[in-house]
Amino acid sequence: MPPTPDVDELTPPERTLMGPGPSDVHPRVLKAMSTPLVGHLDPSFIEIMNEVQELLRYTFRTDNQWTIPVSGTGSASMEAAIANLVEPGDTVLVPTNGYFGGRMQSMAERAGGDVVHVDAPWGEPLDSTDVADAFDEHQPDIFGFVHAETSTGVKQPDVPELTDIAHDHDAYVVADSVTSLGGVELRVDDWDIDVAYSGPQKCLSCPPGASPLTLNDRAMDKVLGRETECRSWYLDLSLLEGYWGEERAYHHTAPITNVYALREALRLVAEEGIEERWDRHLHVAGALKAGLEGMGMEMNAPDEYWLPSLNAVRVPDGADDGEVISYLLENYDLEIAGGLGDLAGDIFRIGCMGYSARPKNVTYLLSALGEALD
Ligand code: PLP
Repeated sequence: MPPTPDVDELTPPERTLMGPGPSDVHPRVLKAMSTPLVGHLDPSFIEIMNEVQELLRYTFRTDNQWTIPVSGTGSASMEAAIANLVEPGDTVLVPTNGYFGGRMQSMAERAGGDVVHVDAPWGEPLDSTDVADAFDEHQPDIFGFVHAETSTGVKQPDVPELTDIAHDHDAYVVADSVTSLGGVELRVDDWDIDVAYSGPQKCLSCPPGASPLTLNDRAMDKVLGRETECRSWYLDLSLLEGYWGEERAYHHTAPITNVYALREALRLVAEEGIEERWDRHLHVAGALKAGLEGMGMEMNAPDEYWLPSLNAVRVPDGADDGEVISYLLENYDLEIAGGLGDLAGDIFRIGCMGYSARPKNVTYLLSALGEALD
């Protein structure tokens, strides 16, 4: 038998989180997480579930009845969207302009979909003409795109144009809003998005564990009318309806503490006002971007599709990205990240999300980065 482990009390370092997520958690959210548990079917928890759904609708800018936190990380809400909407034999159009389009592809394939692509280089958004051409060529049933691509710092512009193209072809639109929800303008109903999923640990400044998802009636009709069962039992929305719908019957034990946390994080969004919050992210990240450019650095994305919540900036000639990242962590307890995939070694990724999107953090980061690059 192994010996009794001698493990000290938990004392994680106090970091400032300005990487691609998680972001710094708001103190009020941490406090909510230390409140006592109730049962997942307790009448008081049912009320909390209603409140979370109402707050999520506000944040997504939607009236969708089907708006829930999925138990799990952003990949769980992503998989809930794809695994339920995609039926074997459906054609699914996914983008190739970043890391998370690749994850969509894997999930769509596992759900039995035939995947086709709309291409753009990493670091560029999708062009609506290319999307229209891909629709004419492949006639997809489902079109997924990433609104805020965390791997490249690119915001997809012209979303209503893309959803119009998809709906002219009777397709469903799935939007990845993991790095935009609560920080970057996103209007699910006005932009005619059928399904949007997100994560709590980015612009909502909440720990991962309960991840936002919303579907309109049209998408939910497809899900509930499937000829084959969803391949995932845990994420099957026709079963989860029993818990999050009218009935409120047991499906699995909800991550109660994460739901408390999300409730408080969303309350903070409502208190600030969603549009004011988008403005704050623009303003604070704008100061960060100006500071980086003032230091002679170059943003990876041009202004038209710069993503305020995730600032991808080119690694200056002669600098080693790994050394700079370690220097900031070791000397300043400050987390930023390097590039992924096609952009590995080429960019730093600096998050400006939620509670981390504060002027004080920007000043701290610019001065520490200036020293690290010196
Ligand atoms: N989609 C995007 C755009 C992301 O940035 C992430 C995580 O960084 C995910 C999906 C997956 O979320 P998670 O890592 O919480 O599972």
